[in-house]
Amino acid sequence: MPKAVGIDLGTTNSVIAVMEGGRPEVIVNAEGARTTPSVVAYKGDERLVGQIARRQAALNPQATLFEVKRFIGRRWDEVSEEAARSPFKVKEGPGGSVRIEVGGKDVAPEQVSAEVLRKLVSDASAKLGEKIKDVVITVPAYFDNSQREATRQAGEIAGLNVLRVINEPTAAALAYGLERKGNETVLVFDLGGGTFDVTILELGDGVFEVKSTSGDTHLGGADFDQRIVNWLSDEFKKEHNFDLRKDPQALQRLIEAAEKAKIELSNASDTTISLPFITFDPETRTPLHLERTLSRAKFEELTGDLLKRVREPVQRALSDAKLDASKIDEVILVGGSTRIPAVKRIVKELTGKEPNESVNPDEAVALGAAVQAGIIQGDSSLGDIVLVDVTPLTMGVEVKGGMIAPMITRNTTVPAKKTEIYTTAENNQPGVEINVLQGERPMAADNKSLGRFKLEGIPPMRAGQPQIEVTFDIDANGILHVTAKEKTSGKEASIRIENTTTLDKGDVDRMVREAEQNAEADRQRREKVEKRNALDSLRVQALQQIEENEGAGQGAKDKLKAAADAAEEAIRQDDDSKIADAQKALEEELRTFMTAAQSQQAAPQGSEGAAGTRAEDDVIDADFKPAE
Ligand code: AMP
Repeated sequence: MPKAVGIDLGTTNSVIAVMEGGRPEVIVNAEGARTTPSVVAYKGDERLVGQIARRQAALNPQATLFEVKRFIGRRWDEVSEEAARSPFKVKEGPGGSVRIEVGGKDVAPEQVSAEVLRKLVSDASAKLGEKIKDVVITVPAYFDNSQREATRQAGEIAGLNVLRVINEPTAAALAYGLERKGNETVLVFDLGGGTFDVTILELGDGVFEVKSTSGDTHLGGADFDQRIVNWLSDEFKKEHNFDLRKDPQALQRLIEAAEKAKIELSNASDTTISLPFITFDPETRTPLHLERTLSRAKFEELTGDLLKRVREPVQRALSDAKLDASKIDEVILVGGSTRIPAVKRIVKELTGKEPNESVNPDEAVALGAAVQAGIIQGDSSLGDIVLVDVTPLTMGVEVKGGMIAPMITRNTTVPAKKTEIYTTAENNQPGVEINVLQGERPMAADNKSLGRFKLEGIPPMRAGQPQIEVTFDIDANGILHVTAKEKTSGKEASIRIENTTTLDKGDVDRMVREAEQNAEADRQRREKVEKRNALDSLRVQALQQIEENEGAGQGAKDKLKAAADAAEEAIRQDDDSKIADAQKALEEELRTFMTAAQSQQAAPQGSEGAAGTRAEDDVIDADFKPAE
C-alpha cells in the first residue's frame, strides 16, 4: 500500500512529511528544499508553483497569488479588508464567496491551494518512488466549518484522497509528544503567516487530549509585514507625494522587503530597507529610490496592537481548559512568526514559562500530520496513540427573535452528534428554513452563517404539530453534516443548502477535471521543453565534436554540420515532429561521425577492434544520456 503523507498547507510555506522507519521525516521538494512557498503564478496557461513562482512575483504581481489561505472558505464580507491590500485582484464570487481574477478568469481559492498540494505530492511521489494519493492535511485549529470543508475540497481538486483534516497545533503536539514519557500539560502557541492558534493539551500514555483551543484567523506574520509596508509608504508619500500602494509592482516589492526586514529584526536591533528605482516621479519622470532604517523598537511600536491581540486567545484557552497558567508544564512555539522576539517575550509573560525550543517551528506541524497519517494507516511502529480533539467554535441554529440556539458548544470533543426537535410556527407550513450558525455571540446576525438549510415537503399540519428532527454531526475532521427529518409523518424531507460559500459537488467535479487537464497540459509542455533542450544540447555537442576532431574528413564534418543546422531550424520552428526527426537524424550522424573519428585515432596505434569499439560505446553512453 502506498504511504499516506502529512501536509502542512501553510499561509506562507507548505511542508510535506512521511513516516520512515517509525519516525516522521520531511520530504524535500524537487528543488531540494524542505519548505515550499505557497505561491502560484499564472503565466499564459502555464502555472508556476513554489519558489519559482515566488521569484518572479515582482515582475508579475497581478498573476502571482500568495497567502491565499487567508481567503479559503471565507465569505467575501469577512475578507474585504485583506483583499484590498493584495497586489492581485480578489473579488466577490457567487453566493458571497471569494474569487481571484487572474488572466481574465475567476479562480476559487480552493483551486489555488490545490495547485500547491499537487506540486507537494507530485514531488514527494517522485522522491518516494510511489504514487501518493492518501493525505492528511492540517488546518489552523480556529478554522471554522467552511474553511475546513474548503481545505478538504482543495485536496479533492488536486486528485487526492484526504484521509483527515487535523488541527495544526494538535499535529505539532503529536510531533513533540511522540517520544515523551509521563503526563504533561502542554500549551501550543502557533503564530504563522496568516493565522494564530492556541491549544492546550494533556499528553500521557500515548493519549493526546485537546482540552481547549482558541485563536484568531485574521492574525499572522503578514499583518506584521503590512505595518512595515504602511510605514514605508506613508514616509515615502510625505517625501514624494506618491502612494506606492497604488502601484502593484511597487507594492509587491514593498511586501517582500518588509518581510525581509521583519525577519532580520528577529536577530538584529536595526535593519536597512533599500529599494532603488521603486517608481518614477510622476512629474519629472526621474527615478525615485526608497531607503529607510527600521529599528526593532520602532517595529514593536508599529505592531503594538497586533502584539496585544495574541493575549486574549491565550487567556480564553486557559479559562476554557479551567487551568491556571502555572499548571502548564511546557510551552511549544510553532509557526515562523514565533521567532519575533516581542512575541516570545509575551508568551513568557503570559505563561510564566520559557518556551520549549526542542521542536522546529517550521516543520513540527507537517511531522505531526505524518504521524496522524501513520496512525490512520495502522503503522505498527507507532503503538497505540489516541488523539482526542475538539471543535473550536459553537455551532447552532437561528431561532425566533434572531437568537442563536447552540447545538454543539465550543471545545466539545469531536466526533460529536446532537439532535434537537423543532416545529413550525404556522398552520400548513410546507417547509422550514434552518439557518446554521457558527460563533460565540448571542445574536444570530453577529455569527457566521454556514448555510441555510431548507426542509421542504412537510405534509399539511397545524402549527406546532410537526416534529422536525435536526441532527448536527461533526466528524473527526471537525466538519459539520446536517440532516433533518419530519417525524410525525415519517417522511424524510429533502434538504437543500443555500447561501453557502463552499463549492457544490458540480463545482468540485469541474475543478477536478480542469486541474487534471492542466496537470496533463503542464506535463506535455514540460516534455516538449525537455525534448527541445535535449536536441539543442546534442546540437552543441555535435559542433564541439566537429571542432575537436580536426582530422575527420571534410565530407563527414559537412554531413554532421548539416544535421546540426537542421536541428537548429527544427527548434526555431518549434515543430514537435520535426524536432523528433531531427533528433533521430542528428544522433545517427553523430554516431557515424564518432565511429569514423575513433577509428581514425585508433588506427595509427594499430589497435583497431575490441578496444576501439569499447571507446566508442563509452562516448555514446556518456553523450546520449537524456538532458538534465
Ligand atoms: P509559517 O506559516 O509557519 O510558515 O510562518 C510564516 C511566517 O513566519 C511568515 O510571515 C514569515 O515572514 C514569518 N517568519 C519566518 N521566519 C521569521 C523570523 N525569523 N522572524 C520573524 N518572522 C518570521
